[in-house]
Amino acid sequence: ESFHDVDMGEIIMGNITLIRYTRPTPVQKYAIPIIKAKRDLMACAQTGSGKTAAFLLPVLSQIYTDGPGEALQATKENGKYVRRKQFPISLVLAPTRELALQIYDEARKFSYRSRVRPCVVYGGADIGQQIRELERGCHLLVATPGRLVDMMERGKIGLDYCKMIKFSLTSNTSWFRKMTLYVLCRYLVLDEADRMLDMGFEPQIRRIVEQDTMPPKGARQTMMFSATFPKEIQILARDFLEEYIFLAV
Ligand code: AMP
Repeated sequence: ESFHDVDMGEIIMGNITLIRYTRPTPVQKYAIPIIKAKRDLMACAQTGSGKTAAFLLPVLSQIYTDGPGEALQATKENGKYVRRKQFPISLVLAPTRELALQIYDEARKFSYRSRVRPCVVYGGADIGQQIRELERGCHLLVATPGRLVDMMERGKIGLDYCKMIKFSLTSNTSWFRKMTLYVLCRYLVLDEADRMLDMGFEPQIRRIVEQDTMPPKGARQTMMFSATFPKEIQILARDFLEEYIFLAV
């Protein structure tokens, strides 16, 4: 039992060694090969089980393999110049600011020396600052559902295949201040799904996952983590996951 049983690329393997994880925890041992095999996953795992690394490691390694390349180009649209950014994005939804920050911190450690750039957005903090961070490029976005919906409603971010989302940071300024963001959500993780439902986030989660710009299940890879597996979580799993593997550790 070793992290080397699954090849996650030199950089991530190096970072695992750097942060002194010597052997995978049970949830990591089972979930990593499933995620690397591109299967949807419903995992029942408690806090402290190492579930964060269980999804971050394979998702980051996949982002790295897919190529985090982003294209920044100036194009003329409707007679106006816009700056266009395009990058695949992985989205991790978490119930609280504390958990979101914890996931983000771990993602930063695992993506150290790679070109993968994690970002985090959560409520109760300056939205402008978070938008500026996103604007610099983001491959893995950790978000609390409320703040993400807020950003979507303000038109600051979309999880979009092909539609343009205008980053109207400032109005009536020169063309390069106007951002158009194209995003492709390839990997979607719902962490502590039962807690998100307990906190009343189901409408926000459904808004995010079921908006017509989100790639449908099957076109994205979805992973759900939950400490418990009550009826409401089973329904979410049925609605969001495609032929998923159920894992309980
Ligand atoms: P989590 O369940 O993801 O919140 O992780 C609980 C704690 O275990 C965190 O502090 C992790 O940094 C740590 N951890 C996760 N996986 C490993 C591992 N394979 N070896 C040692 N520590 C780990």
